[in-house]
Amino acid sequence: VKKPWQDLRSDDPGYPEGMADAAEPGLRALVVEDERHIRELVALHLELDGWKAVTVGDGEAALKLAREQPFDLVVLDLMLPGLDGLTVLRALRRDGLGADVPVLLLTARREESDKVLGLETGADDYLTKPFGVRELVARARALTRRSRHSQRTDGPPVDAGRVARLGNVTIDPARRRVTVGDEAVELTGREFDLLYLLATHPGIVFSREALLARVWKGETFVTERNVDTLVKRIRRKIERDPAEPTLVLTVWGTGYKAADV
Ligand code: CA
Repeated sequence: VKKPWQDLRSDDPGYPEGMADAAEPGLRALVVEDERHIRELVALHLELDGWKAVTVGDGEAALKLAREQPFDLVVLDLMLPGLDGLTVLRALRRDGLGADVPVLLLTARREESDKVLGLETGADDYLTKPFGVRELVARARALTRRSRHSQRTDGPPVDAGRVARLGNVTIDPARRRVTVGDEAVELTGREFDLLYLLATHPGIVFSREALLARVWKGETFVTERNVDTLVKRIRRKIERDPAEPTLVLTVWGTGYKAADV
């Protein structure tokens, strides 16, 4: 009998080049998975990559932990006993410490529709089981990447290297660093790419479709609602009042633009 973890491959040919540096030390990941062997395997490989991994086997425990402690990443299985992954994700996004944490969903192939729902609910990425652990580690890093040595395999969307300014927000693509006034704020890779794209084209309207093409680059299972979710999260990080945005503006019926300030 083949056990589930025996399907996990650690030698994916798709493992991106240039990812040899370890993850930043001290990054904390919460691994939520009821299948013990997958949970331990994921935690082990994250820890080998320099992460501190905290593991739980059910949704209630996950939610409690994520609300009490800061994490840099949540690896969330969709099919959990009790509170399922989507319910956990929705609850996480609603309040407190977990509202902005990057979430990587783990799904089974039969859960395709849940995957779409997951991305709409605010997950940042997903992996379908069986997945390669190196791919998981690569995705985990990509979701929290900020250092200048790191690079998305597909590169930032435009104008790599030029520092962009939007009101009191400075966006430095070389360091993948964003400051609001004097204060550094942490953006996920995709939040950064979207903000940078808009900020380097002040006043230019981008449709949701165009943003999907530029920021998500042909990924499947994303919809225009993913754009709205991402914009909301960016606003929470950079706008003085996210409910009355002055930097990333909605263009009704079309999409978004950066204020021409
Ligand atoms: Ca499961």
